Amino acid sequence: MKIRSRSRAPQPPALPAWEVWCAGPGDVRLDLGQYWGKATQVAGVWIRRGFVTAVEAWIAESMKQEPVPETGGFCFGALSQSEDGYRVSLETFVPAQNPAHCSPDRLDFGVKALLALDAAAGEIAGQGLVGWLHTHPGHTPYLSGMDLHIHEGFFRAPYQLAVVIDPLTPDWDTGFFSRRPEGPMNNRAVGVTWVPWARVLTLSEQTQDH
Ligand SMILES: [Zn+2]
Repeated sequence: MKIRSRSRAPQPPALPAWEVWCAGPGDVRLDLGQYWGKATQVAGVWIRRGFVTAVEAWIAESMKQEPVPETGGFCFGALSQSEDGYRVSLETFVPAQNPAHCSPDRLDFGVKALLALDAAAGEIAGQGLVGWLHTHPGHTPYLSGMDLHIHEGFFRAPYQLAVVIDPLTPDWDTGFFSRRPEGPMNNRAVGVTWVPWARVLTLSEQTQDH
């Protein structure tokens, strides 16, 4: 995936209290310590129900094409800090519409998608850019050299995440990549069991009922 770097990192609004923030039905909480131990500046992620279903719908659309191309978009949400690190909520998914290029192994957001991103950022009250998400159809969740180039150019804030989903695995293996305390991104790791997006969807449906 390729986008232009930009000079400023939008700041998500601070949240008043974690306890208040996590109260919504349909939310799914992920502890990133299960992937990265203490080597992560983001300790936990809350995924809102609307985010889960929006991502699922957007990727399902891409699966109708043959071969399945990469697709992606931007993650808006909020932020709080605790002793063990940042806590980030994924609340609104903004798909990258009309990418300049998309193929099974490459996605170029292009200028149109970035203009749409700026427009969206102005309209989503109370949320900031907390990361980006894209697919790796058939080539597993990890950050390629190009992905790292994008992240370092565009998502430099310590709380900003890169989410990568492989929609050609049965349950959509999903990697949540965060920054390590010393700065570089966590990446493909030996022995990590990825959270399947299907599991996130199921959990979200279950918590919605309570
Ligand atoms: Zn990639």
